[in-house]
Amino acid sequence: MMERKVRVRFAPSPTGPLHIGGVRTALYNYLFARANGGDMILRIEDTDSRRFVPGAEEYINESLAWLGIGIDEGVREGGEFGPYKQSQRRDIYREYVKILLDSGKAYIAFDTPEELEAARTATPNFQYDASTRGSMRNSLTMSDEEVKALIDGGTQYVVRFRIEPDREVRVNDLIRGEVIVNSSILDDKVLYKSADDLPTYHLANIVDDHLMEVSHVIRGEEWLPSAPLHVLLYEAFGWSDTMPRFVHLPLLLKPVGNGKLSKRDGDKLGFPVFPLEWHDPNSGEISSGYREKGYLPEAVVNFLALLGWNPGDDSELMDMDELVRKFSFDHCSKAGAKFDYQKGIWFNHEYLMKKDNDELAALFMPVLAEKGISDFSSDYVAKALGMVKGRANLIPDLWSQADFFFVAPVSYAEKDVRKRWSADTPRIMEELIVILEGIEDMTSANAEKIVLDWISEKGYHLGNVMNAFRLAVVGACRGPHMFDITELMPKNEVIDRIRKAIETIPAPEK
Ligand code: GLU
Repeated sequence: MMERKVRVRFAPSPTGPLHIGGVRTALYNYLFARANGGDMILRIEDTDSRRFVPGAEEYINESLAWLGIGIDEGVREGGEFGPYKQSQRRDIYREYVKILLDSGKAYIAFDTPEELEAARTATPNFQYDASTRGSMRNSLTMSDEEVKALIDGGTQYVVRFRIEPDREVRVNDLIRGEVIVNSSILDDKVLYKSADDLPTYHLANIVDDHLMEVSHVIRGEEWLPSAPLHVLLYEAFGWSDTMPRFVHLPLLLKPVGNGKLSKRDGDKLGFPVFPLEWHDPNSGEISSGYREKGYLPEAVVNFLALLGWNPGDDSELMDMDELVRKFSFDHCSKAGAKFDYQKGIWFNHEYLMKKDNDELAALFMPVLAEKGISDFSSDYVAKALGMVKGRANLIPDLWSQADFFFVAPVSYAEKDVRKRWSADTPRIMEELIVILEGIEDMTSANAEKIVLDWISEKGYHLGNVMNAFRLAVVGACRGPHMFDITELMPKNEVIDRIRKAIETIPAPEK
C-alpha cells in the first residue's frame, strides 16, 4: 500500500465541556501529526442535535489553544476539505446514504419506537439484524410502492446498514494489534434519520474520514466497539484500500480503586477533570478547570502525554518539542493509565520552578488584581516570585508564599511571638531600625554583613534577633532569606513594619 500523508483528526462532539481524557486524545493526535510532518484536523461532530450544548465548541477551541495544541484545518482555520462542522455537511451525507441504498448495502426502516420496544419485549436480547429484519417494517419486507407511498406521505424513517451475518471482521489497531469480531454480533445500525435529515455518528464519521483523507484514527478506547462496523462501512463504500489505521488509546482510570476516571473522583479527591473551568449553561453548575486552579499548560501537557505513553527511557520532564521528537505508538500501552493527579501537581511544581520570573509575574498579575493590589511593578513582582517559587505547586500557592511582599502583616503568628518576642525585643528592634537607616547599600550580602556584625558586637542572640526581625516584616517565621527580602522591599516599608510590630506586639508576661 502506498505511503499516505499523515492526516489525523480530533473529532469531538460539542455535548459539554471537553473531558481531560478528550484532551489527551487531542494531544496524541497532535503529537503524532507533528512527529510525522502531518496535518491535524479539528472536526466538530454535531449531528446529534438533542445533545448539543451551547458554548461547548468555544470551550474546545479555547482549551486546545491554552494547551498549545495547534490545529491546521478546522472550522476557524479553514482548509481544503471543509466544511469542518458536520451539521454543515448534510448534502454530502445525503449523497452517501443514497449510494448505500442504491447498492443494497442499506435499507429504509419505518419501525416506530413502540414497535421496536414491542420487539424487544417479545424477543429476549432482540437485535435488529439478519435474523430479525425479515419480520420488521422495512424496505426489505415491503413493496417499493408501499415504501414510496409512506415516504411521500411524510412518514419518518431511518436508514439502516445491512450487515451480512457470520463474517470475520478484522480491525487492525496500532496499539492492540489485530482484533477479530464476528459480524453476527453487530446490529443493523441506524445511519441516517429522516426526522432531522442528518446521519448518525457512524456514517458521518466514516464519510468524513474518507473525504478528509484521514490516515490515522486516534481516539479513546471507548470507540473500539464501533470499529468493526466502521471497517464494514469502508468496505461497503469500496474504500477499504484507503481505510485509516486505527489507534485506540487506553482508558484513563481512577487514581484509586478500579474503573474509569469520572468527575466524581475529581470532586472527591480535589482535582479537576476539565482543562478549563466550565459553567454549565443548563444547571448553572461550575466545574473546576486546570487553568483556573493555577496549573501551567506545559505541565498539563507533559502530565497527560505520559498517561498511556512513555518515551522508552526514563525521561519525565519534556516540553512539547521534545514530546514531538519522541512520540510514537510503539511505546503506547494497551492497559489503562491510572490518573495519578498528584503526579500532575509534581509536574506543575517542576514547571513553575523552570519558568522565567517575568513570565511568572505576568501569570500572577491577575491573582494580585483579584486582591485589589495594583501598585507594584512587574519587576518587583518577578523578583518576589523568584524567591518563593521553589515552595509553590500551583500558581495560587505563590500568593500564600509571597503575600508579605505586597501587604504588611495584620497579625503575627502567635507561636512565633511566644518563642521569639521577649521583653528585650522592642529595644533591640529600635536599635535595628537605626542600623538599617544607616545602611546605604541594601543589597543582600552588604546588609547582612552590617546587621550580623552589629548583633555579634552587641552579643545578642542571633536566632532571636533575626526571627523577631522576620516576624515584624513577614508576620511569621517563614519565607526566603531575610536579607533578600529587605533588598527588594523599600527600606522605609521594612522600617515601618518593625515600628508597627514594636507598637502592636504585646510585651510578654514576665
Ligand atoms: N464524535 C466522537 C467523539 O465525541 C468521535 C469519536 C472518533 O474519534 O471517532 O469522541
